[in-house]
Amino acid sequence: MRLTVVGSSPAWHNPGGAQSGYLVEGPGRLLLDCGAGVLAKLRSMNGGWPLVDSIVITHWHLDHWGDLVPWVWGNMVGPGKGKGKPELWLPPQGRARIRDFGSRLGWEDMFETTFDVRDYEEAIPFQTEAGLEVLAIRLPHYTLRTYGLRVTNGAHTLAYSGDSGPDERLTQVARDADLFVCEATLERGELDGSPRGHLSVDEAVAAFDASGAARLLLTHRPDELPAPDGYELAYDGLVIDL
Ligand SMILES: [Zn+2]
Ligand SMILES: [Zn+2]
Repeated sequence: MRLTVVGSSPAWHNPGGAQSGYLVEGPGRLLLDCGAGVLAKLRSMNGGWPLVDSIVITHWHLDHWGDLVPWVWGNMVGPGKGKGKPELWLPPQGRARIRDFGSRLGWEDMFETTFDVRDYEEAIPFQTEAGLEVLAIRLPHYTLRTYGLRVTNGAHTLAYSGDSGPDERLTQVARDADLFVCEATLERGELDGSPRGHLSVDEAVAAFDASGAARLLLTHRPDELPAPDGYELAYDGLVIDL
């Protein structure tokens, strides 16, 4: 299993960066989140148009799904034309939600012209066309419904926090994973809103320590906040083989 960090920026882009997007390969190609800038980065990696089997979205903040919109235009009249229809797995009730967005941004079923749209269910593993199984675990992120993801090919497991405040369920997401990609957006937890929605480095490390995961990769971190020494920080283009 191979992870390529396509985009690692938080809610505003780091210089030259893309927002959330993580490509997991092995056996197929699965994209976790598709924030603004991800399409351009994928095009640079692949040449032409991105070839992915499946996409899974953690939540409806734009930095996690915004580039699905230009993906539709490129598929309709650009280089994506005739390049297949990736699965698009959305949070529960996501089909209705994305049709609503479609009716405001283009037309109601615009996303269904480009993607094979499905909703996943909470806490029930689902099999993707990429040949990878995914489990979505609900996490706290202000008042927005959001999920952390466990991705496995049977031999290896990658865990991804999406966006989350501190919570015991983060340790379920990351339990004994080979790699835990965990957000660390904040300088300090007390700077967060209420209810909580993001993690500091200390809080990400606490979740990692409790989980038994083998390796921690911090992400979704503003450029203005370097990671403390001794911690691995994601950057766009980073490749990790598990
Ligand atoms: Zn985010
Ligand atoms: Zn968010």
